[in-house]
Amino acid sequence: MSTPADKGAVATQAAGGAIRLPAVHLILSDAGCESLIAEYGRVQTLEAARALLAELRAMLLAARDGGAAAALAAAPDTTIPSLIAMLGARLRDQNTSPLRPVFNLTGTVLHTNLGRALLPDSAVQAVVDAMRWPMNLEWDIDTGKRGDRDNLIEELLLELTGAEAATIVNNNAAAVLLMLNTVALNKEVIVSRGELVEIGGAFRIPDVMTRAGAILREVGATNRTHLKDYDEAAGPQTALMMKVHTSNYAITGFTKSVELDELSPLAKKHNIPLAVDLGSGTLVDLEQYGLPHETTVRETIEGGADLVTFSGDKLLGGPQCGIIVGRKDLIAQIKKNPLKRALRVGKLTLAALEPVLALYRAPDLLPERLTTLKLLTRPAAEMRAQAQTLLPLLQAALGANYTVTDEAMTSQIGSGALPVDQLPSHGLVVRPAATGRISNALGVLEQRLRALPLPVIGRVAQDALWLDLRCLQAHQQQRFIEQLALLTA
Ligand SMILES: *Cc1c(COP(=O)(O)O)cnc(C)c1O
Repeated sequence: MSTPADKGAVATQAAGGAIRLPAVHLILSDAGCESLIAEYGRVQTLEAARALLAELRAMLLAARDGGAAAALAAAPDTTIPSLIAMLGARLRDQNTSPLRPVFNLTGTVLHTNLGRALLPDSAVQAVVDAMRWPMNLEWDIDTGKRGDRDNLIEELLLELTGAEAATIVNNNAAAVLLMLNTVALNKEVIVSRGELVEIGGAFRIPDVMTRAGAILREVGATNRTHLKDYDEAAGPQTALMMKVHTSNYAITGFTKSVELDELSPLAKKHNIPLAVDLGSGTLVDLEQYGLPHETTVRETIEGGADLVTFSGDKLLGGPQCGIIVGRKDLIAQIKKNPLKRALRVGKLTLAALEPVLALYRAPDLLPERLTTLKLLTRPAAEMRAQAQTLLPLLQAALGANYTVTDEAMTSQIGSGALPVDQLPSHGLVVRPAATGRISNALGVLEQRLRALPLPVIGRVAQDALWLDLRCLQAHQQQRFIEQLALLTA
């Protein structure tokens, strides 16, 4: 229970006596509050002030009821300037976006939890324009008639993949769902047992198949599937044969899988379309940049696939989206499915995707221009030089409780691309100086790095924190250095 007391102060009655806090209107009318009201608005500032006072009141009561000593220990400064400072901190805090930029020093370039591909500046600029201007999203400028948003990038996709037609949806999971629902509703889809993948928990081929209304027909064994397994399963009930890229694992040892060049003639013999979920959509041969080979979309189309699905934000290096390319008649059916409307992409995605695809017309310049490829092809020597610059700065910021060294390490491409291949990299390794409670010291360190304005995310392994510098881009290094001062404080 609270009652107004002398001159606006509020007294809360409780067993041991009154607790005094200024009335909310005295805080809001104070000159010190003007800048907060200007920034956050009167309504929000008033609500935050009320919430702050309610919390303080509860705290003071609890402390007093816990005894005089506790009350004294916990007593906050309840003068108006101090309350306004608390109010400012509270408002700043609640207005900080929960989605924030971070430093990805995990060594995984396409990190799904950290947003996958970073986009090149040309795509960034296109998105800015698309947010500020009306766009001919579904408007044919040549004819002045209604258009189709897929047309904006279809031609470019056909040029880059050799396919007959293309369509875009929200992500590759949506692409697979839409494809199955269109081509195989209430019919069977033949998939090898060795390819029934789960990608990041929620996306499992058997589950997507069920949700799409298709019937999974598993063939072969986990480690070995033969052409005759597909042949024997095919029949009038079959709508599709499907191959799925085993993105995040490798089956080694006594194995056999049926490659596209064998499966394609069989699918043709049965007159059944053949689909490939490629996962990471690679549009160029990565070997020319010194990276391991990953089957390209063009190779898959040329190998006889009738439909190919892949992600926009994995190796392709673009925005989140799912791309389906393939036979004209099948793509036309897919585009007519009402689910396409529910899964379609927005203008910001299309705005970002077009300039990224356009970069592929100059494959020789791609490692300079496409951010993802630039990061994947950074020479280890460059990261080593960077590590040597940063080492003394990080060591000074962390103090004597930690030892920082620069060491060779390996990065991963991530997002299920080339799961077994590792890229030679270089970075900083931080070890707690004292033996003993190492895991505790590492936990504290990780937390301090995460608490920075631009959280630094590394990887804990072998009693050390590993900071792979592959993804610390030159133009972002200064920001990294500047905030090291906050570690010392
Ligand atoms: C990544 C992946 C998907 C899911 O793609 P999203 O774009 O994340 O929806 C589906 N299939 C395979 C084989 C993949 O690697």
